[in-house]
Amino acid sequence: MASTNGGSTPILVSGGGIGGLAVAYALARQGFPVRLFEQSSEFREVGAGIQLGPNIFRALDKIGLKDAVLADVHRPPAQEMRDALTGELITHIPLGPAFFERFGQPYAVTHRADIHATFLKACQSSNLIALETSRRVDGFEEHGNGVVVTLENGERAEGRALIGCDGVWSKVRERIVGDGKPRVSGHIAYRAVLKRSEVPDDLWRPDVVLWAGPRCHFVHYPLRRGELYNLVAVFHSDHYEEGWNAEGSKDLLWKHFQGLRPEVLRLLELIDTWRMWVLCDREPVKNWSRGHTTLLGDAAHPMLQYLAQGACMATEDAVALAEKAASMPNDLPGAFKAYEQARYLRTGRVQIMARVYGDFYHARGVTAELRDIALAGRTPQQAYDGIAWLYGGP
Ligand SMILES: Cc1cc2nc3c(=O)[nH]c(=O)nc-3n(C[C@H](O)[C@H](O)[C@H](O)COP(=O)(O)OP(=O)(O)OC[C@H]3O[C@@H](n4cnc5c(N)ncnc54)[C@H](O)[C@@H]3O)c2cc1C
Repeated sequence: MASTNGGSTPILVSGGGIGGLAVAYALARQGFPVRLFEQSSEFREVGAGIQLGPNIFRALDKIGLKDAVLADVHRPPAQEMRDALTGELITHIPLGPAFFERFGQPYAVTHRADIHATFLKACQSSNLIALETSRRVDGFEEHGNGVVVTLENGERAEGRALIGCDGVWSKVRERIVGDGKPRVSGHIAYRAVLKRSEVPDDLWRPDVVLWAGPRCHFVHYPLRRGELYNLVAVFHSDHYEEGWNAEGSKDLLWKHFQGLRPEVLRLLELIDTWRMWVLCDREPVKNWSRGHTTLLGDAAHPMLQYLAQGACMATEDAVALAEKAASMPNDLPGAFKAYEQARYLRTGRVQIMARVYGDFYHARGVTAELRDIALAGRTPQQAYDGIAWLYGGP
């Protein structure tokens, strides 16, 4: 790939998660040299599944990675919501041909490590991208034509610009937005992945199934071409811990899930070790770019996972940012402002609506009854209409 857009000074990227790798690759495709710093000693993702709405495939199409991502996914035939107390079906949304016809892209579920590995491989194939592990970005200074980043080991790196893709606890955001710690939602997710052979046949379902309970819910779906089974149990708790990979106490889980349907309990019983994520988000903001520095993904707009869109939004961001940078290569501060302008209302809406969906899933009593009536009355086309603002974009 020839450099067309930047001379030799690279754009610096802090963080090598899904967002950081996606933007590094998207920028390199536009001819920008990139230097990416990841604090961990290797590039890796935690073992868990994510859902991929049709909107991410629109973005992936633009950077030529759609087929590579699709190679590892499972394509669920439907999304289903059931009452976790009675077992009753609340809603069933087909994700097959009618869905594809409506949105022009598929719905899929994948292992985080698989999509991350695809992005990593794409970056490694580009001679414009330098990937550096064990490099923690500690600070940065703006100067006339770019930025100088300070790494934890004292090293300084010069760049034309800096993109903070350093997640929910972003250091770069601290300096640009300065809105303190993320908002703790009071919800905790326990996650586990089983092999297909570990799941009894009568419990294995090809669909994305969500069991909605009082102040809790449970989701399961297959991963990696059906070879794995992803389980996520979410409940209300004030427990707080930073990071995405602490071990979760089984006692705490059982306290919240007792009394639910046997299908739910039997699946929960199969798990020995749960990984716990304390779920956090932030209020939407729009001033996440300053001079030659901007934010992307969870650093810019961390959201609860109830719309299953954090990684999708990070990938959309990456493509939008690279397009803006390519259209104004000699004015990256202007390109970053244009990118922010193009993205903040869409990502802010997802941040807000994710909270609403969370309340919806965890409803109790009359609220739950009203939810069930509202959802059960919808045709698949009406369900598609309801989510078209998200899946039909950007
Ligand atoms: C329970 C749960 C379920 C989810 N389900 C879905 C889903 O179904 N669909 C979906 O699209 N999204 C989902 N998400 C959201 C998605 O996982 C995140 O939004 C996405 O991973 C964000 O990617 P990112 O690259 O912005 O941040 P991260 O993945 O957090 O990556 C940040 C990277 O930066 C590195 N880093 C941090 N600080 C520094 C530093 N100072 N210097 C250098 N490196 C640094 C970190 O080590 C990490 O590698 C879910 C999230 C949760 C918690």
